[in-house]
Amino acid sequence: MASEPLNVGVLALQGAFREHRRMLEGLGVQVREVRLPADLVGLSGLVIPGGESTTMGKLMMDYDLRDPVRAFSAAGGAIFGTCAGAILLSRTVLGAPPQFGHQPGLELMDIAVQRNAFGRQVDSFQTGLEVSGLSSPFPAMFIRAPVIGAVGEGVEVLAHQGEGVVLARQGRLLASSFHPELTGDPRIHELFLTLLPQAAPEVPALSATG
Ligand code: GLN
Repeated sequence: MASEPLNVGVLALQGAFREHRRMLEGLGVQVREVRLPADLVGLSGLVIPGGESTTMGKLMMDYDLRDPVRAFSAAGGAIFGTCAGAILLSRTVLGAPPQFGHQPGLELMDIAVQRNAFGRQVDSFQTGLEVSGLSSPFPAMFIRAPVIGAVGEGVEVLAHQGEGVVLARQGRLLASSFHPELTGDPRIHELFLTLLPQAAPEVPALSATG
């Protein structure tokens, strides 16, 4: 079992999925692009990339992926959400204008995120981020990034930018406000790989529908 290759999926509906794919392949991981529920079978982990969270959430509903991804997580699969992906992982999205209504998401991780939290004038920037467990700053790229405004009890905070939380972990769930796939430094992806289960989880809902 321990010698099985690691299989990680990258949700490939929209956004920066190719960059995650390249980063993970560089770490020797077998990567599959996920567009359909059946694509989750045999995976140990899933990356939800940055992009536009409202679009990705809507596509996730259109492709009937929301419940299968939730079942994958419940069965022990690890999930890493970056930027828009972190918004989709969160239980609560703060400050959404009411006219947009409820933003569809996975509601898996006990965090509340504020979208576009760094404002329009400095909407994209790179900074050396102190990350718990890393011996030197991580080159973190923020692009119209959300901030994690509140975390629940089981959530471990791994990095702050100013007042806000920008990297957090809960069990096998990892959420970053920034884009670790864009700066060539693999350390956050390596951290994610440590959260993967030893073997791909059996997801009953998926094997039942084939
Ligand atoms: N601002 C985007 C959103 O709210 C996220 C931006 C990103 O993923 N780089 O969905």
